[in-house]
Amino acid sequence: MSHVTELACTVCGRSYRPDPDRYVCDACGPVGTLDVGYDLEAVAAEVSPATLAADPDRTIWRYGALLPASGASVGLAVGGTPLYHVPGLAPDVGDLWIKDEALEPTASLKDRASAVVAAKAVEFDRPVVTTASTGNAAAALAGVAAATPGIEAVIFVPASAPEAKVAQLLVYGATVVLVDGTYDEAYDLCTEVASRRGWYDRNTGFNPYTTEGKKTVALEIAEQMGWQAPDVVVVSVGDGSIIGGVHKGFAEARSLGWIDRIPRLLGVQSTGSNYLAEAFERNEDVVTKAPIVAETIADSIAASLPRDRVKAMRAVRTTRGAFLAVDDTAILDAIGRVAAATGVFPEPAAAAAFAGLDAAVERGIVGRDERVVVISTGSGLKDVRAAMEATRRAGIVPLRVRPDPDEFEAAYGEGSETTR
Ligand SMILES: *Cc1c(COP(=O)(O)O)cnc(C)c1O
Ligand SMILES: [Zn+2]
Repeated sequence: MSHVTELACTVCGRSYRPDPDRYVCDACGPVGTLDVGYDLEAVAAEVSPATLAADPDRTIWRYGALLPASGASVGLAVGGTPLYHVPGLAPDVGDLWIKDEALEPTASLKDRASAVVAAKAVEFDRPVVTTASTGNAAAALAGVAAATPGIEAVIFVPASAPEAKVAQLLVYGATVVLVDGTYDEAYDLCTEVASRRGWYDRNTGFNPYTTEGKKTVALEIAEQMGWQAPDVVVVSVGDGSIIGGVHKGFAEARSLGWIDRIPRLLGVQSTGSNYLAEAFERNEDVVTKAPIVAETIADSIAASLPRDRVKAMRAVRTTRGAFLAVDDTAILDAIGRVAAATGVFPEPAAAAAFAGLDAAVERGIVGRDERVVVISTGSGLKDVRAAMEATRRAGIVPLRVRPDPDEFEAAYGEGSETTR
């Protein structure tokens, strides 16, 4: 039995029953995204740091008491990704960690949300689940659907999505609709088709349960740090759903007394897709702020109207964090720098968070003595073209020889063994 009590509008506070067709607030419309409320006393009676320590399940379902559905039917092992200590990556940061979400089954953090939504679709007896996506949410839903009996995925992606992400959709057997348009246009098409056909709608910032999946990354970070919350968590932001979920995870852990404070949350956008960073800087109300034109190499964080903007802004404001924007050059630079220093290979959207940390340190937003976690949200193998562009710009080129030892020696030269 889930401990969900209600769905509450993030804008006006109206409370709704958690019915299958309840996505957003009737009074506020799509901006009125819903918060999933729990009976935290009942949760506390079922799970605690001590019971978790004894639980061998490493997937998100170890936090099942704080989730809205049972994961019994979901076949993929989502969650349980490593948290690496990387003190050498940013010398100006006292204590730096990376949560590597490239190690999810479909190689991005989106698996967490798709697993929870698939579990709800099974519970609601809705065999077709659909989403629009810049690629990763789609791949996640397609992969999870492939591993969940009785669920099939229909996916709407911009025709410009990176090839690797489209390949994932096709191999997982989803029905793929390439939309000649932007992500935002694909999104509107998808929600319209879903409501006409009665399909279960996973869309980010529309389905309230995506936040529930994403919050598990915060629960994992807190648990992996021995329930000592970090000072700062840095995450890249497109629709704002991940950062909203991260906030909810830490806030619930705090309410349950598992941690004693909530970290400051830093949301990083591209200067080419900076809706929230701009709203933060100008102190604008995201309920009424108009869409911008979004254009960035970091396709996973391109959003002209971030669908989960209310939760995202709340996450940053209430934790006294910040939104920052970094340009595409800084994002590309970060890919190789992070990969070469840590072995973690981020896609452009994930690399943006590292570039954002640099900017935050420079601006004094993050202090030298602080404990910082950067969430690396997706794998660099998803966008090989961007990675090759990044290394080419950095002047990193392979040696090229015929299969001849002397030619190798000539090409290799006197170069230091440790810098090659
Ligand atoms: C989706 C995604 C993001 C941004 O998440 P939002 O919830 O849209 O803010 C960042 N990085 C990667 C790799 C993603 O797939
Ligand atoms: Zn409302």
